[in-house]
Amino acid sequence: MAKLPEDRSESGFQDFKPAWDRHQSIVEANRCLFCEDAPCTIACPTHIDIPQFIRKIATDNVRGSARTIFDSNILGMSCARVCPVEVLCVGDCVFNEMDQPPIQIGKLQRYATDIAFDQGWRFFEAGADTGKSVGIIGAGPAGLACAHELRRQGHGVTIYEKREVNGGLNTTGVAPYKMRADRAIDEAEWVLGIGGIEVVHGVEIGKDLSWAELDAKHDALFLGVGLGPDTPMGLEGEDLPGVYGAVDWIEKMKTGLVDLDHVAHAVVIGGGNTAVDCVRELVGLGVPVVTMVYRRTEAEMPGYSHEWRAAVIDGVTPLWRSLPTAWVGADRLERVRVTALDAACRPLDDSEEEIDCDLALLAIGQAKLRDLVAGLDGVSTDSKGRVVVDDAMATGRAGVYAGGDCVNGGKEVVNGAADGKLAALGIHAWLSTSS
Ligand SMILES: Cc1cc2nc3c(=O)[nH]c(=O)nc-3n(C[C@H](O)[C@H](O)[C@H](O)COP(=O)(O)OP(=O)(O)OC[C@H]3O[C@@H](n4cnc5c(N)ncnc54)[C@H](O)[C@@H]3O)c2cc1C
Ligand code: SF4
Repeated sequence: MAKLPEDRSESGFQDFKPAWDRHQSIVEANRCLFCEDAPCTIACPTHIDIPQFIRKIATDNVRGSARTIFDSNILGMSCARVCPVEVLCVGDCVFNEMDQPPIQIGKLQRYATDIAFDQGWRFFEAGADTGKSVGIIGAGPAGLACAHELRRQGHGVTIYEKREVNGGLNTTGVAPYKMRADRAIDEAEWVLGIGGIEVVHGVEIGKDLSWAELDAKHDALFLGVGLGPDTPMGLEGEDLPGVYGAVDWIEKMKTGLVDLDHVAHAVVIGGGNTAVDCVRELVGLGVPVVTMVYRRTEAEMPGYSHEWRAAVIDGVTPLWRSLPTAWVGADRLERVRVTALDAACRPLDDSEEEIDCDLALLAIGQAKLRDLVAGLDGVSTDSKGRVVVDDAMATGRAGVYAGGDCVNGGKEVVNGAADGKLAALGIHAWLSTSS
């Protein structure tokens, strides 16, 4: 697998939620009420037994705590850093109802899982060999979680990954102030450390290897392919140097170098979490003026409000109810033409103006990989391009399962981890009954 350059652009970012030490963690763990009905556990998509892992921290049993976490979520280390806990476990802590600060579950999870990882502790072994083989497409959170659980059940696993690095968007997308790419790659290695998982890099299914070839090699398949490329706006001047898809640009920034030397004003188009990550990343990389252009209002933006508040503190300026209509420049981006919109997102007459900008990132969504799965008879997609599955993550084709962003349309790492594990258990049940 390829190694990342030490001097990549993301390297200068520091953790925005620094780790806690033993003392801080034990004090916080002792504040927990260990609720029997634990709404935090229900809110976590992987349903980690949160009271149990916190109780183990309180009694200084870090190893036991980490085991409890990883037993439900093998990506518990990265989830501790990247989960939007404010809207998941921490958001449902009962202390929120009692005017008390909620338990910092993510921080406690990070304390236990970082120690386990740094000590090289391993908790799970591969099951007795079943002689069955499963092909997994994608080494992102969904694919890795699926692979790990399948090995626990004793099945052979081959992962096909078109990139040269593992981890999916956990490596190439997550904001570096939450987690840098090398940590996600190391975590993937640790997950693969259960043994018996072959990862074939640089192979794109549907292009380098057909579905028919894949079908013939394996007894079952799991699709963990995520989403497709950034959605373009299709505006005049969009091919000018300086206009990029946001996810594409973030990948370059995390795994290599982006040149921002002459960038004085960057604009980011969109109001979702990717847009908010981008504006914070640009400020962190030293761009003097960063503007987020969104077609609706602050109250309507889909990005998490806690993240947006942090972006405003960082110095980002919003341009609400506005839409770019053209990218302007001679041989590279110099300005963006923007029109104001009314409440129904219709352009307001005579409102067009040009704003100086030398970098624009389009964060208006990612394509769905509808065409990729169209080659698999029986696998269908819904009107939004998401792969259709049942409660066990099975598609309409026997033996083919799917999970993560390609099914949910783009959620969180923890959803990918939950889907991957659930699908592995579905595949195990199916392989146990099929001849
Ligand atoms: C910019 C950005 C920031 C994010 N920040 C956060 C965050 O802070 N916290 C959080 O919880 N979530 C975050 N997410 C969401 C999270 O990263 C995803 O929900 C999660 O990674 C989905 O996992 P997945 O395995 O389904 O897909 P992915 O992570 O996308 O992995 C899919 C893998 O499949 C591979 N692949 C695709 N097609 C093929 C093919 N044909 N052949 C072979 N391989 C293929 C890809 O190369 C990739 O490695 C973010 C997403 C983005 C875009
Ligand atoms: S995996 Fe995420 S949502 Fe679940 S308990 Fe841990 S931090 Fe909370």
